[in-house]
Amino acid sequence: MQHVNFPVTPATQSRLEQVDFDNLGFGSIFCDHMFSMDYENGSWHSPQIISYQALAIEPGVAMLHYGQTVFDGYKAFRGEDGQARIFRPERNAQRLYDSCQRLCIPIMPADELRDIMIQATRQLIELDHAWMPAQWGHSLYVRPLIIATEATLEVRAANSYRFIIMTSPVGGYFTNLKKGVSLRVEDRFTRAASIGGLGAAKTAANYAASLLPGSQSRAQGFDQVLWLDSNEHRYVEEVGAMNIFFKIAGKVVTPPLGGSILPGVVRDSALVLLKDWGVTVEERPIAIDEVIAAFRSGELEEVFGAGTAAVICPVASIGYQDEVFTVANVPPGELTLRLYNELTGIQYGKLEDIHAWNVCLPLPATQT
Ligand SMILES: *Cc1c(COP(=O)(O)O)cnc(C)c1O
Repeated sequence: MQHVNFPVTPATQSRLEQVDFDNLGFGSIFCDHMFSMDYENGSWHSPQIISYQALAIEPGVAMLHYGQTVFDGYKAFRGEDGQARIFRPERNAQRLYDSCQRLCIPIMPADELRDIMIQATRQLIELDHAWMPAQWGHSLYVRPLIIATEATLEVRAANSYRFIIMTSPVGGYFTNLKKGVSLRVEDRFTRAASIGGLGAAKTAANYAASLLPGSQSRAQGFDQVLWLDSNEHRYVEEVGAMNIFFKIAGKVVTPPLGGSILPGVVRDSALVLLKDWGVTVEERPIAIDEVIAAFRSGELEEVFGAGTAAVICPVASIGYQDEVFTVANVPPGELTLRLYNELTGIQYGKLEDIHAWNVCLPLPATQT
C-alpha cells in the first residue's frame, strides 16, 4: 500500500475535554478531525484532513431530495499492547465501491479507494489518538460517507460529490451480550426489494424504509425488526444493521447474499471462523416457518446477529404474528459466545490474527 500523507489543517481547539467516555453511546460524538475529498469536472481531487465541521450545502442539492449517497462503517480498537487495530477495512472499501456502482456515483478504481480509505483512517487515528477509547468493548467507529453535492432538481446522477470520513468513539454492547435483543418479524413492510433493488448497498433509502416498522416494533416492546423477503414475506433476510444466524440441530444456517441483504463483514468473518472450527454452515434461504417449527420441536438452539456495531449479538426472543418465542439463548449460547470472544479477541489483539484481518498501527500512550 502506498503511504502518501494527506495534507492536514489541524483543529484550532480540541473538543476532547467535553467527552464523557463513560457514556459514549453510539455515534453521537465525533472526533476533532475528518477526511474530505471532492469530485468535480470528472475527477476526484483535494484529499485532505480538516477539523470536523459543518458542510455548507445548498437546499437544491440532489442528495437531499433523491438520496444519492452511500456510507460504510468499520471499527478500530485500542489494544493493551499500545497498537490500534483496524478490522478488515479493505472489505469496507470494496463494499463502499460496490455501493457507489449501484448509486451511480463515479468513484475511483477500487484499489485506489482502498488505499485512500486505509491511509485516511491511519492518519485520523494518529491525529485523534487520544479520542480512541481504552476500555474493553469500546472502540473508534469509522464512518465514510459520499454525498452528491450538485444543486439540481433533475433526477439523474450528479456531477459533483464530497467524500468524508469521520470517526466517533463508541461504547460497548455488553448489556446486549448478557440480555440479548428481541426481534419482531415484519410481515407487512419490506426493507429492500428481493430482486433488483438497493438491499446490498449501504445507502440512505434502505434505512429510510426501515424507520416506520422500526418505531412500530419499539412501541410494541421489541428492540429491532427481523426483515422478510419482499415477494412473499416468507424468507428471513436480516436485522437492518446485523445479519442473522440460526443454530438448528447443531448446524448453523444464514440467508445467502442474493442482492437484497447487506454483505456484512462480520457475517463473512463469522462464516470463516465457523468453517475453521468444523461447524456445518448452510448459506441458504430459510423460511420463518422453518425457524418457528425448529423452535417448537426444540431444535432452535441459538439465534444471533452479526454486525460491526454489536459484533455478535444474541437474540433472546422473536415475535411473529401474535406469538413471542423465547430462544434459549440467554445468557449467550455456547457458539454465540465463542464467536463473540474469538472476534473481539482478534480485534483487541489478545488472540492470534490467523487470517490477517487487522491493519495495525502503533499508538502514542494516552490517558483515556
Ligand atoms: C452495515 C450493515 C450490516 C452489517 O455489516 P457489517 O459489515 O458486518 O457491519 C448488516 N445489515 C445492514 C443493513 C447494514 O447496514
